Amino acid sequence: MQANNNFETVLSDYTNNKSYLTHQELISLKSQFDSEQSFYDALLKWVSEYAIAPVSQFKVAALAIESGGEGRLFFGANLEFSHQALSLVVHAEQSAIHNALLHGVEAIEKLVINASPCGYCRQFINEIQLEKQPLINVHGVEKTIQQYLPDAFGPSDLDNHTPLFSQSLTQCRDLNAYVEQSYAPYSGNFSACQIKHVDGHQYFGVYLENAAYSPSLSPLQAALNQVQLHNRQTGLHGISEIVIKQTAGKANQQGVANAVAMSLGSNIEVTIEEV
Ligand SMILES: [Zn+2]
Repeated sequence: MQANNNFETVLSDYTNNKSYLTHQELISLKSQFDSEQSFYDALLKWVSEYAIAPVSQFKVAALAIESGGEGRLFFGANLEFSHQALSLVVHAEQSAIHNALLHGVEAIEKLVINASPCGYCRQFINEIQLEKQPLINVHGVEKTIQQYLPDAFGPSDLDNHTPLFSQSLTQCRDLNAYVEQSYAPYSGNFSACQIKHVDGHQYFGVYLENAAYSPSLSPLQAALNQVQLHNRQTGLHGISEIVIKQTAGKANQQGVANAVAMSLGSNIEVTIEEV
């Protein structure tokens, strides 16, 4: 059975300034399909259109399905910046995991992706607490992170016994509270970002570190990705002000913030404050 041709219309309606599906919305949409995987495939195709990939033109989509709790499904899409270092990109898997975490998810049951996770993402996923590791579904084949990343280097190698998702976040509209809830077990440089949008909405991003350091997600990248996931039509347009708050520490967000802001245009005010 083909999906009803109103699939995209309904999805557009459900996701008006919202980066996930509620459990009810998920059930309703899934009922249009013969199998769970055909639903995932159609949804991945739709979510991939959130991707901003001016360099690679390679649009990646990821779906993070909440384990227990409210049973929501969170979107993830990649974000690249023109004329900036490739190391600044946000991968779809990072995007979906941050999106879920930011909305108070305690664990992800399954991560559905439209392409095999790259090595960088395998390392990012490996930061999640072992007991809460999601199954990874690529084209209907499900594997564990141990299968994707054997003999891994992870949090325990750096004596970190409170890895990602060992604590869930409390959703709020307060930048200081997000700084406190950010994940910085290696540097101690807690940090979060708030983006003000011309349409009156505000978006947040929290810093997520990684035991291998490089795959860490900066708060600015995370917040920009939230703007992207909430504004399917306009992407990163309409950003008026960016505020980054951080504790004094060994790592610093200034360099990456300036680089990213430059690629967005010079009329955006970027403030970096210490708490
Ligand atoms: Zn990746």
